[in-house]
Amino acid sequence: MSGSSARLQAIDAVTRYRPVSEPLSFSETSASELFGASVFSLAVMRNRLPKPVYQSVLATVESGSALDPGIADVVATAMKDWAIEKGATHYAHVFYPLTGSTAEKHDSFLTPDGQGGAIAEFAGKTLIQGEPDASSFPNGGIRATFEARGYTAWDVTSPAYLLENPNGRTLCIPTAFVSWTGEALDKKTPLLRSTQALDRQARRILRVFGHDEITRVVSFAGAEQEYFLIDRHFFFSRPDLVAAGRTLFGAPPPKGQEFDDHYFGAIPERVLAFMMESERELFKLGIPVKTRHNEVAPAQYELAPVFEPANIATDHQQMTMVTLRRVAEKYGMACLLHEKPFAGVNGSGKHVNFSIGNSTQGNLLDPGDTPHANARFLLFCAAVIRAVHKHAGLLRAVVASAGNDHRLGANEAPPAILSIFLGEQLTDVFAQIARDGDATSSTARGRLQIGVDTLPELPKDAGDRNRTSPFAFTGNRFEFRAVGAGQSIAGPMVAINTIVAESLDYIANQLEAAVASDPIELHAAVQKVLQDIIAAHGAVIFNGDGYSEAWHAEAAERGLPILRTSVDALPVLASDEVISLFETYGVLSKRETLSRMEVYLEQYCLTVGVEARTSIEMARTIVLPAAIRYQGELAAVCANLDVLGDEPDTDLLDRVTGLVKRLQAGIRALEQALAGGSGETTLAHAEHCCNEILPAMVAVRETADELEGVVADDLWPLATYQEMLFIK
Ligand code: ADP
Ligand code: MG
Repeated sequence: MSGSSARLQAIDAVTRYRPVSEPLSFSETSASELFGASVFSLAVMRNRLPKPVYQSVLATVESGSALDPGIADVVATAMKDWAIEKGATHYAHVFYPLTGSTAEKHDSFLTPDGQGGAIAEFAGKTLIQGEPDASSFPNGGIRATFEARGYTAWDVTSPAYLLENPNGRTLCIPTAFVSWTGEALDKKTPLLRSTQALDRQARRILRVFGHDEITRVVSFAGAEQEYFLIDRHFFFSRPDLVAAGRTLFGAPPPKGQEFDDHYFGAIPERVLAFMMESERELFKLGIPVKTRHNEVAPAQYELAPVFEPANIATDHQQMTMVTLRRVAEKYGMACLLHEKPFAGVNGSGKHVNFSIGNSTQGNLLDPGDTPHANARFLLFCAAVIRAVHKHAGLLRAVVASAGNDHRLGANEAPPAILSIFLGEQLTDVFAQIARDGDATSSTARGRLQIGVDTLPELPKDAGDRNRTSPFAFTGNRFEFRAVGAGQSIAGPMVAINTIVAESLDYIANQLEAAVASDPIELHAAVQKVLQDIIAAHGAVIFNGDGYSEAWHAEAAERGLPILRTSVDALPVLASDEVISLFETYGVLSKRETLSRMEVYLEQYCLTVGVEARTSIEMARTIVLPAAIRYQGELAAVCANLDVLGDEPDTDLLDRVTGLVKRLQAGIRALEQALAGGSGETTLAHAEHCCNEILPAMVAVRETADELEGVVADDLWPLATYQEMLFIK
């Protein structure tokens, strides 16, 4: 079949797809040799650096001690030699601007030697600091008042790696990106600062429990990445996918995900080939990808790595997104990381699993087998409960984006209300603690011993796996499921680290005071803290169906914030509570926090603007012409019948004519909405986007989707949901 419309050509091309790439040979290198082959890892450094230099780097990586600038030259030379041996010609400081993407500026190692030749050079100062021309990265006003300078600073804790291209390799150095006054312009800087805050507060609790050997406490993150794969021909045939990353038009397919036959189903061959190559690439970069499977929706898949310290997991997550997109192209597909590429079809999230721990005490969110560990676990668990309840608005704000709004609360994803699923057993444990709360101190102590000592052995795996909860305890970690598929996990981890640090601070204050007056009081003090926290914050625990209407009503009654859209959620960042939270723990200054809100609101407006303009263009130049052609055909038939003396049935023509008029009116209304209400502030403009532009887009879409079900199939110009999701 060869057709004229982009749609028919795309179908034609897809059905003629043949694998183009050479099959991968895994035998040449074993998986274990492959792992980390492109990484300037600690192991590589141990081999290549003088012992004291290596020890110094190791100390910074492991204990977070300050970097000794004196070693930079030695490390830089070793790094350069290693990279050049592996075929690198350039180096790049990689940084993570507030757009959520990955930015890199490449420089050659080569420097003219003044005698007509060139030498490879890489000085310590070049490793430590870079100065990208960064004026085009969003800064929310921070740089407008200062110079437009930005600096990148080497993050020793995240290893350098080689980026491969068929024509060469680039040494990539993860960096933090700050203004010349030291203000954070990126996602990494606050993440590193929040990790420090968490460490400081968590250690206080561990000290109270009598541990004297305590290594650096960090949060760990394992992000399950959901994504869609569709054939590239479909992708390029749809301006909405190209410009906005999601379909702005498209009627629901006759067959959707209702059979649940895709989830965990056999993986199609082309997709599996893609997965294997992506995994191989990620392995080389030292990214421990582990799990792959089909997801709920047709053409939707998931990949999950083994968890790592949050800073590294975050960098690896960014590399994973880039790699998935790149490798998909090689297999003739497009990888969609948008949160809701297809309306009415399951959206994509990034479930961020996190725990808190260190090498001496292990996972502090592991219930353990012993009562002692249980008490410590219960405190850390209670710290999370308190944090999520107290800062539910902030957690909603850090996952707010135009894309994620289509997913959160859309009855297929976690609701926009932040609650915690604990599972029956843990809920019961906390209920017991709360119930025995009115006992006097001596009996309370006795009871606590009993209460904690005889607690049922806590579940390693919460039997039930509530899928509707945005924040679930899953055996030895929490899973934050509201994070969007295309989003950096830095923001969510910054929020989690900081709010948990604040709770640990609160808890440590009580315990330290109690123990100072009487060392024996620890158990009573623990019980009291747990009781207080459950009394004040237990309202956030909800084990039921997060999708139900009843829950919305109940959540409102419990006083939990319901922030449906980004426009509702992002202003939380400007609240006194959030500003002082970030200030207190040295994570973000007031200016930095406010600048972030500004940038995210801007991004929201830009996204909606692009979508609206794409909608108008597609409706006017693709959908409307098809409808008018069909209208013309119908009119011609009716006229012919009329000429022949037959009474023409004009029902269909009337319907199409009505839809054409409605579509035109809808386009005009959308244009008006787009032109109007630029607003005095970014927030006012974002509100206009949310309340006027988006509904006008939905109206245009509804008419277009109705036309899709009426216009003759051979005239319909846009690849349909059925085709994009099922033709592989
Ligand atoms: P599921 O889909 O069943 O939730 P997956 O295996 O897809 O589970 O993903 C679970 C994720 O949680 C993985 O990234 C895994 O490494 C991570 N994870 C497991 N244990 C921990 C932990 N203690 N802390 C942080 N993340 C963890
Ligand atoms: Mg999973």
